[in-house]
Amino acid sequence: MKEIKRKCQGCLSLIERNELIKITKLQNGKLKINPNSKELGRSVYVCPKEECIKNFIKKKKLKTALKFSNMEEISKIEEELKKFIQ
Ligand SMILES: [Zn+2]
Repeated sequence: MKEIKRKCQGCLSLIERNELIKITKLQNGKLKINPNSKELGRSVYVCPKEECIKNFIKKKKLKTALKFSNMEEISKIEEELKKFIQ
């Protein structure tokens, strides 16, 4: 099987897609972590590592990479992301 790689927005490395956390901006204006295949939208990826998630949050990647401006929703998702740290 061909491996699909995506860029982690924390460390900016290309990583195998299935090792990354995906965050998608849904049509309803909400963000979702690891959406199902029917939920489409602009997405960003991050490794489930402390360093990557901290950098991702510090650099405000949900705001900049997803062009998303609902700060309340961003804070909620950033808190949820911290639970993925392995
Ligand atoms: Zn990373």
